[in-house]
Amino acid sequence: MTANRQITKLPHDTGVTGWNAILGPAPRYPEAEGDISVDWLVIGGGFAGLSAAKRLCELRCGDRIALIEAARIGEGPAGRNSGFMIDLPHELSGDGYAGSADGDRLQISLNRHAQDFAKGCAVEYEMPSEAVSQIGRMNGAVNRRGEAHNAAYATQLAALEESHTKLSAAEMAEMTGTNIYRSGLFLPGAVMLQPALYVREMATGLTGRETTPISIFEASPATAFERQGESWKVTTPKATITAGRVIMAVNGHAESFGFFRQRLMHVFTYASMTAALGGEQLARLGGLPAWGITPADPMGSTVRRHTGIGGTRIIIRNRWTYDPSMQVDMTRVSRFRRDHDRAFRRRFPMLRAVDLEFSWGGRLCLSRNSVPAFGEVEPGMFSACCQNGLGTAKGTLAGIGAVELATRANSPIVKDLLSYDVPTKLPPSPIAKLGATMLLRWREWRAGAEI
Ligand SMILES: Cc1cc2nc3c(=O)[nH]c(=O)nc-3n(C[C@H](O)[C@H](O)[C@H](O)COP(=O)(O)OP(=O)(O)OC[C@H]3O[C@@H](n4cnc5c(N)ncnc54)[C@H](O)[C@@H]3O)c2cc1C
Repeated sequence: MTANRQITKLPHDTGVTGWNAILGPAPRYPEAEGDISVDWLVIGGGFAGLSAAKRLCELRCGDRIALIEAARIGEGPAGRNSGFMIDLPHELSGDGYAGSADGDRLQISLNRHAQDFAKGCAVEYEMPSEAVSQIGRMNGAVNRRGEAHNAAYATQLAALEESHTKLSAAEMAEMTGTNIYRSGLFLPGAVMLQPALYVREMATGLTGRETTPISIFEASPATAFERQGESWKVTTPKATITAGRVIMAVNGHAESFGFFRQRLMHVFTYASMTAALGGEQLARLGGLPAWGITPADPMGSTVRRHTGIGGTRIIIRNRWTYDPSMQVDMTRVSRFRRDHDRAFRRRFPMLRAVDLEFSWGGRLCLSRNSVPAFGEVEPGMFSACCQNGLGTAKGTLAGIGAVELATRANSPIVKDLLSYDVPTKLPPSPIAKLGATMLLRWREWRAGAEI
């Protein structure tokens, strides 16, 4: 029997995510209480955790499966991201978006596997169409530097024989209503999620539509864990859960469990969502009912128009901070809301009367060498963490992969995820924070008008 290990930090989400708020009240799942015994315990109700639970239903139908979430499904990072589920290379830690050709081809096929998994769940669980829709995305260039990024990206995509269409300023304006973009690239392979709706619907499907439904517990953070014989004992405030195997799907909080210490970079980014646009505003805006723009410069603003439950709204994401504490306060969110407001007004002068209704921040986990924190970290405990900012696809793959590894399914996902080095060690915290903050500020400054 090993010692009881305390989990040093619990997640903290700052600001109300508009994606979740516009959906209205979510189904509630009970808090874990008493003694619970399961074959599988999934910790974390984001993309990785919910995908792991779904894959367990497929591979281990009949096993007892539980998932615990510290907060509520849809409130964490999985319900507060911009919802771009991207198939193409999109390397956030680099200067551009693409890497080596063979590596890129493999990543594209795996990312498409994640997209197919999400689309399959959407069909099986009869999700509303806005939860998962393949409408593609535009990579928009605001300045010359952005255009140069897009030109280099287009060359790489041509070499990979990946479909892409160059868009002129006029075409960008026609599709989106804003004329800020000098040009763009249309990339048809992106799947767009209403992220909070998707994770809510995943939870509804897993608990209500599977032959052997899984048990989901909310407001049930794992606070300690220990190995007892062949099992794991995981403690939450009101329960003791004994599990044969554990899938740890908590992204950067793997470090709070004592794993990958000083190897994970905790980064935040921030977003705002407008109030619903009225009929006259929609007419003034023009463009397609739904679209998504990623910035040609990775440090620029991501902009979406979403139409569905809660009406038609515009969502802007920009700004990055490095926060090893894994927590930010509302003052920060309010400060960056001003950047969102500026980015919104510059792009949509015709929507002068429209205000930002929701603003929030959210955690990401990156590693210095852009690798996942994946694998059997202790006997019977599997990590599906560190999605390097691309968790809609990578988190989905990590969750699937952790289950396939645990069930000894010899899959290409497992092979890929096990092929990486471990995340590189970071310099001591104050130096890492200073270095990362300066790098982020410099890159944001260089991105200039793209923000
Ligand atoms: C504003 C913003 C925009 C983004 N845009 C995109 C985008 O367009 N595309 C993209 O691919 N990615 C995007 N991301 C990143 C994406 O949200 C993350 O990479 C993704 O959520 C990671 O998925 P995950 O399941 O690994 O972790 P998470 O979604 O973080 O889920 C982990 C869950 O574990 C829970 N947890 C943690 N500790 C415990 C504990 N002790 N006990 C129980 N539960 C615990 C947390 O509450 C959390 O719900 C964005 C992020 C932000 C913040």
